Amino acid sequence: MSRKWVYLFDEIAEAEEVVGGSWDAVRALLGGKGAGLFDMTRAGVSVPPGFTVTTEACNEYQGNGKFPEGMWEQELTALKEVEKRTGKKFGDPANPLFVSCRSGAKFSMPGMMDTVLNIGLTDATADGMIKLTGNPRFVWDSHRRLVEMFGSVVLGISDEAFEKPLAEYKAKKDYKHDIEMTADDWKAMTGIFKTVVKKQKGIDFPQEPLEQLRLATEAVFKSWNGKRAVDYRRATGIPDDLGTAVNIVTMVFGNMGSDSGTGVAFTRDPATGERKMYGDYLLNAQGEDVVAGIRNTEKIEDLAKEMPVVYQQFLDITTKLERHYKEMQDVEFTIERGKLWMLQTRSGKRTAKAAVKIAVDMANEGLISKEEAVLRVTPEQVDTLLHPQFDAKAKQSAELYAKGVNASPGAAVGQVYFDADTAEKMGKEQKQDVVMVRPFTKPDDVHGMIASKGILTSEGGATSHAAVVARQFGIPCVVGAAMVKIDLDKRQMNVDGNVVKEGEWISVDGTTGEAFVGKIPTVAASLEEQTDLLTLLSWADEICARPGIRKGWPERGLQVWANADYPKDARRARSYGAVGIGLCRTEHMFFEPERLPVVQRMILADTSEGRIAALNELLPFQRKDFDGLFEAMNGYPVIIRLIDPPLHEFMPDEEKLFEEVVTMRVKGERKGLAEKEALLVDIKSMHESNPMMGLRGVRLSIVMPEIVEMQVRAIFEAAADCTQRGIVVKPEVMIPLTGTVKELEWIQPRLVRIAATVLKEKGVKKLDYKFGTMIEIPRAAVTAAEIAKLAEFFSFGTNDLTQMTFGYSRDDAERNFLVTYVEEGILPVNPFQTLDREGVGRLMQMAVEEGRKTRPDLEVGICGEHGGDPESIEWCHIIGNHYVSCSPFRVPIARLAAAHVALKYSGKRIAEDK
Ligand code: PEP
Ligand code: MG
Repeated sequence: MSRKWVYLFDEIAEAEEVVGGSWDAVRALLGGKGAGLFDMTRAGVSVPPGFTVTTEACNEYQGNGKFPEGMWEQELTALKEVEKRTGKKFGDPANPLFVSCRSGAKFSMPGMMDTVLNIGLTDATADGMIKLTGNPRFVWDSHRRLVEMFGSVVLGISDEAFEKPLAEYKAKKDYKHDIEMTADDWKAMTGIFKTVVKKQKGIDFPQEPLEQLRLATEAVFKSWNGKRAVDYRRATGIPDDLGTAVNIVTMVFGNMGSDSGTGVAFTRDPATGERKMYGDYLLNAQGEDVVAGIRNTEKIEDLAKEMPVVYQQFLDITTKLERHYKEMQDVEFTIERGKLWMLQTRSGKRTAKAAVKIAVDMANEGLISKEEAVLRVTPEQVDTLLHPQFDAKAKQSAELYAKGVNASPGAAVGQVYFDADTAEKMGKEQKQDVVMVRPFTKPDDVHGMIASKGILTSEGGATSHAAVVARQFGIPCVVGAAMVKIDLDKRQMNVDGNVVKEGEWISVDGTTGEAFVGKIPTVAASLEEQTDLLTLLSWADEICARPGIRKGWPERGLQVWANADYPKDARRARSYGAVGIGLCRTEHMFFEPERLPVVQRMILADTSEGRIAALNELLPFQRKDFDGLFEAMNGYPVIIRLIDPPLHEFMPDEEKLFEEVVTMRVKGERKGLAEKEALLVDIKSMHESNPMMGLRGVRLSIVMPEIVEMQVRAIFEAAADCTQRGIVVKPEVMIPLTGTVKELEWIQPRLVRIAATVLKEKGVKKLDYKFGTMIEIPRAAVTAAEIAKLAEFFSFGTNDLTQMTFGYSRDDAERNFLVTYVEEGILPVNPFQTLDREGVGRLMQMAVEEGRKTRPDLEVGICGEHGGDPESIEWCHIIGNHYVSCSPFRVPIARLAAAHVALKYSGKRIAEDK
């Protein structure tokens, strides 16, 4: 006997046996829609009789271009059984059976594949159907729909070939809408459509119902590889080899009078998650009328008045379905002459807000566990909830201007300004909503960025300065929109002749990487008000904190810390649930307007004394910064990174200064010229061809130790002051860009001495502090056992580690070749966004293992941009990180992602298996 390709709806036990019992495998075999119909049939819910052709048959068809052996015969046998159960006959003019032929893959792909309704309708059976429905207009409308649907889906005739004659017909009759078409009109149209089929394909529209069924089955198989379906699978990650099932279902008619009807409903509100029936219905109508909005639908609760018995049945069934699936259901139903038929049940699509509310409510109702609730919400949904968003409808009609890398999510609307000073002035003084547009940004643009609602750059990638800073401050940002040509002189930008001038409005969608001309309305978001989300995140934290949830060391799940430079960011991080600061980039503090001239003086000083004098001026500022951070993080660790960037970043731009000097010389302006010339010489002397690999990080501290000595003094003075005020302070001093342990041997002991001296001076006897390093150079990872002799903690700086491991410039790669690399499949994803486990990830794993050989209690974290990326967070859990640190705005996302991975690997010993 040939393989079983076709299952009647009541043959679920057979299907389960074939696949070994798992529900997931049943869904894979019968498709989601099919499995739902089978399951409802088993539960005694009234489902119109029918059968399903399996996804396996579809896959065989894709391979051979023909039905697998025995499949069609099995369809015919199943059809006979359906005839028996309905008491109708396929193709019998006196008592015709009609069926629908619907696609249904394992995962729902709404509208992406084909469906043909009213199969069995022919010239001969049309009369029978008129008798059955008493509605000739409907029958002829259905008939012409069948010819049209069949013509386009099965025979591949363009929609236009049908739309044109219909439009001409209506024009001739002076009709505006389809609703004006009478039964005779639709009958005439059916004839016209048949002529279209004949003309285009040289065949008569099949009058043989079985031929219709065979061709429709084949068309559904074919639609699996249609462009729409393939594109959808690419976008959603649904594998190509799943195939679609074909569901052949007896047609039931909701248009048989006022005791018939049809509707669609959700068991909870899919927009808000509220626990109430949500949906629409129409009496004396067919399914399409509800969906197409041709007639005004009624609210589902009104059905209680019209048909109380049916409504009660409906509520009982849907409640049962929801309890059975433990999920909000999206159902389709038809009432045929007072009898309720369920046509579909599946878990309903919902907004992020509804997803959270439904998960929390269902856990509180005892329907699902807290763990299940946490797993039901995706990190992306949390992300969506935390950023203002564009009104979806308004966005659809907005004018797309440019596309780039979606660097920092959220929606921003503002007036365009092309430099940081003007952006700040307009934002702060004029209280304008500003979008700052630059080719790229530098540290001295930060003030303008902070004053902006959104940022757009034409260069740079996901870890460019603009991207990192924007994420840190939660500013929606699109970077690397290469089609935008910015003319800083003319104060305008241009995309293919479409010019936007300074002061004009644009809208930036950092979630999708798009920019639009004009203002798109937004809707706001705040965590404090989202009580369900707060509850869900507290469950996520609870899961991560469970001892033993992770095998290996540490035994608990990941903690989530935040990257924060200023006290107000630290406060926000706390309010978003961060339990530590994983990175404070101290150099940002040097860019404050009153500090920058002192910093420049310090850099330009000829002697150590001169440098120390300037640093002494900076010390009180830094102390105050740290004081504020410690206070905000009372009781939690704060990692402060010592100065990292090359010094030229704090100096005026060399090119600009050169232009100024030349202009002054040409104009003969003497005043101030000598100072500028001297400054230019100094800046030139600092020039490096590869500053990212030059005098920065710990190298700078060794060449010029006075800066970090001041910083360490400021850290410990602030720590001591805070301790004396009763604040619990846990400072961790982080040395950046270490490549060899010798660097630490050189610098760390002097800094430790300063710490001890300060604490002694201040009379503080006990303080919980650490000295550690970033691991962001491959050599540091490889020699981690040595490095850990001094470093009490490691923090992976994966922005630099990715840059140095691949040898890709983090500022240029995305613009130049990374997009191509991803498109060509050379790289699976952008490694600056998602950790490259095989290369960078392996180095991290090695560093953790080696480091812990030397220092078993070594604290390990990550503070590169990957710390907020769910995929990368998973890797951090696997290799045994204590925490991940990310922008405050990503903290809730990371908390959820950390719980997901803890549950995924719960109790498993993972590091060695990977
Ligand atoms: C890193 O390199 O990952 C890091 C956090 O440091 P920065 O981005 O400041 O170089
Ligand atoms: Mg770095």
